[in-house]
Amino acid sequence: MTDVVKGRVVNGYQDRRRTYWDGRVVLDTEDGKVTVRMPGVIAGWLTKGTEVKVEGRSIGDEVDVFEADVEIHRRHDDEWVQVWPPFEAEATLERTDVLGREVYRYELKFREAIHREDYEAIVGLEQYHYASEKDVVAVWRCAECGRTVRENIKPEKCPKCGSRNVYLWAIRGSLPASRFMVVELQNAEEYEPDIVAYVRVDPPIPKMNRRLPDGGVERNIREKVFGEDWFHPTFEPRRGKTVEDILHECDTHVARIARVVVHPEYRADGIGRESVRGAVRWIKERRIPEMKSEKHLVEVIAQMARYHPIFESVGFVYLWDTGSGRPYLVKPLTDEAKAKVREFLRKDPVARQHGGRLYVSRLRNIEVEPLEEPIRIEDLNKTFTTELDVSGLPEELVELLRAFGVIHRKIQQYVLQDVNLEIEPEKIYVVVGPSGAGKTTLARMIMGADPEFVEGMKRKLLEELSSPVVSRALSTLGVDVRELADELVREMYEPDDGEVILPDNLKLAAMIPGEVEPEIPPYKPIIEILYDVTGDASLAAEILNRSGIADAVLYRSPYERLSPGQKERVRLARMIAEGANLLVIDEFCSHLDPKTAMRVARNFSSMCRELGITALIITHRPEVVDALAPDYMIYVGHGVVGKKRYGAD
Ligand SMILES: [Zn+2]
Repeated sequence: MTDVVKGRVVNGYQDRRRTYWDGRVVLDTEDGKVTVRMPGVIAGWLTKGTEVKVEGRSIGDEVDVFEADVEIHRRHDDEWVQVWPPFEAEATLERTDVLGREVYRYELKFREAIHREDYEAIVGLEQYHYASEKDVVAVWRCAECGRTVRENIKPEKCPKCGSRNVYLWAIRGSLPASRFMVVELQNAEEYEPDIVAYVRVDPPIPKMNRRLPDGGVERNIREKVFGEDWFHPTFEPRRGKTVEDILHECDTHVARIARVVVHPEYRADGIGRESVRGAVRWIKERRIPEMKSEKHLVEVIAQMARYHPIFESVGFVYLWDTGSGRPYLVKPLTDEAKAKVREFLRKDPVARQHGGRLYVSRLRNIEVEPLEEPIRIEDLNKTFTTELDVSGLPEELVELLRAFGVIHRKIQQYVLQDVNLEIEPEKIYVVVGPSGAGKTTLARMIMGADPEFVEGMKRKLLEELSSPVVSRALSTLGVDVRELADELVREMYEPDDGEVILPDNLKLAAMIPGEVEPEIPPYKPIIEILYDVTGDASLAAEILNRSGIADAVLYRSPYERLSPGQKERVRLARMIAEGANLLVIDEFCSHLDPKTAMRVARNFSSMCRELGITALIITHRPEVVDALAPDYMIYVGHGVVGKKRYGAD
């Protein structure tokens, strides 16, 4: 038997909303009072006098929505708007290679934040949004003595009374009207977080002016375009009004996305876009945040929209800049809203110019002149010689080696034998093979054919050999420093015979960890490092984002303070930014966990293709090869080199 209980809310705001996740509404029904325990974020909106309907099995005078299987609706005019069960939706985000084959996927779940753990995860993510030592994002409260503490992580105990019963009291900057949606990664690996993003939804902001290109200001622009009642009455603190009053009156046709925060490791991979899409569904289906009138529009004011197509890619339209110069974008949810947006874009002289579009990728502003012809490797041979000399070893060891017939031996072996290979312009090559088989040597032979590279290496070696101690030791031995440098470079980068023919317009950028690396000033913020190369701040941010450094906090960090995995991504970004037409990279993504490596590899490959860069990438990781989706594989195995189209049998 399903019971239907209807009543009006009688308890006040403080009692209804105790914390984000803990609240209760007391209903005055025909059969007396019924207390319904539910998350505080929802209960806060069910203001005094609201008519509420609870449906479920044998409903008594105490209902706990976390325990009982119930449906709850609130009355608004002549409609019932669903309140519980809370919104939940799923989406699969497939990440594919250039051929459209799936490389990996995200199984995402979007749901309203209703548990304590959800809000603690939100605080954790919010830190990435604002974090710096000064910006504290959370306020915690002691349940025993009421003392509040500002910290970014949950305090062990209350600093006043020592109680361990301390809970999250406020997320700074949010409103009593705010609603939160979390994004769960359902197929998370052990080492991955469960909650990778959150979206905060508020009522529309109270006032907005528009800044015109000539510096003029147009007041209350939204009301003129869409009508007064779409945005008002909104949540707007006023003298003489309690939170209860303001929540009670607040009833608009617009929702505002106030925050989209994605875990830094998952940015620039579509999760932000999917999160916005999930939030839009939530707003439309449940009329978030108020749960009252139908929603016509979702609005967002976001500087980041200039640098990232996150909103536009899910149907948001750029309308104007606010009085403070930040872009204002909207997503129409109804035909009525679509018509108003269309009309504005058609009639407004400024909007006619931009046509509703804001973000433009700047990647193609990097000028890359593709290799004008293939790189040709002809009849190339390279041997390595190792000499075993037993003199100077302890007598006992010499005896042992003699027993094996080893006294003095010169071991000479081919690393590369009769290699003939053509590397076509604008293609991506992955070099694979057992370690020590000659992969790096092959890369060195190509690099060594570039006179500029060879000069640079000699210069670098000379510097190292010219320290007072080393140079004195060498001169005692009668060694000429310059000759030694030439000899060392020849041994590493020149073939014994055969040759590598490079196109005249070659512009090489190479990375062999510990040997050849882009020169990066250690104490400069990384955004500035990229800015110095590109001369364009938006472009610098775009390359960093697409290289997997999508955290504004990291932008400001000096290179030296980054983790090895972050440094690796900055080096890749730096190489892309240089405008080189040939990238040679050894140990690609070696410091990154499998999923991060795949994200970085996939983005790196697409940037190379967009810019017409030829890339030769050495890796031994199959998942990285899949994510790169190269045009060709080069197999190197103890002297032998072969080439195959990627994906061919
Ligand atoms: Zn206390």
